[in-house]
Amino acid sequence: MAVHDFKAQRLFLEADLASGARVRLDSNQANYLQNVLRLKPGQSVHVFNGRDGEWRARLEETGRRAAELVVEDKIRDQDSGPDIDYLFAPLKRARLDYMVQKAVEMGVARLCPILTRHTIAERVNLDRMRANAIEAAEQCGILRLPSVMEPEKLERVVAGWPSDRALVFCDEDACQKNPIAALRAGLKDRPAGEAEVRRRKLALLVGPEGGFSGAERDLLMALPQVIRVSLGPRILRADTAAVAALALMNAVVGYSTEYE
Ligand code: SAH
Repeated sequence: MAVHDFKAQRLFLEADLASGARVRLDSNQANYLQNVLRLKPGQSVHVFNGRDGEWRARLEETGRRAAELVVEDKIRDQDSGPDIDYLFAPLKRARLDYMVQKAVEMGVARLCPILTRHTIAERVNLDRMRANAIEAAEQCGILRLPSVMEPEKLERVVAGWPSDRALVFCDEDACQKNPIAALRAGLKDRPAGEAEVRRRKLALLVGPEGGFSGAERDLLMALPQVIRVSLGPRILRADTAAVAALALMNAVVGYSTEYE
């Protein structure tokens, strides 16, 4: 398993990263490096853009309140993670911030806000979600940045569900069976061996504070790709359910090739 230098400070950049590239810092980035991290000219920081892996970059001041990073050497290759779409009913601000950060830490590939019957937060601030995703990635040394999708109504998502993606439906009303056994059974009942299970296209659906309506449950259970799981005898808060379910899914399908 690659040992990450978790002590190193990380900064997300949009720019392409290659040895010798010079990246001009915007005022927020310059302020973060020079005033928050107190980086001095000549000192380095780890940078990533979600595409080119992780690189060491040296800070250079180019004038009053202007600075840039000079990309030096690659530290880690870009890695992928499990192919998991995380579908969730948006929660109120602080809990949504938390839930987005935890989902990124748990390796999801796409963040998909879903509007359901009992969803409270109708408006979703996608820029805020993306900023939270970047912050989680910087803090946890995550190189793959999940895509942030536009909110969609549950009915529309179900109507267009792709045939090759399993949908793990966290149902607070599901009878209590071992969720790992339910996941393995659901993933393996298609013609797939162990290796296939690890490469499965997956999605996870967690409902809103008020849970799913009966009609939504019927709609979901009619999907051939659905795998209904119970997360135990207690009703979890939606943000707790997300972490619990993602931990189970990662355990069943494998975190990444490093853990095989
Ligand atoms: N009222 C609480 C809990 C709502 S349940 C709150 O304020 O958050 C929110 C969602 O979490 C459910 O729709 C379901 O997707 C998931 N969930 C919670 N407990 C669960 C359980 N025991 N089994 C499966 N899913 C669960």
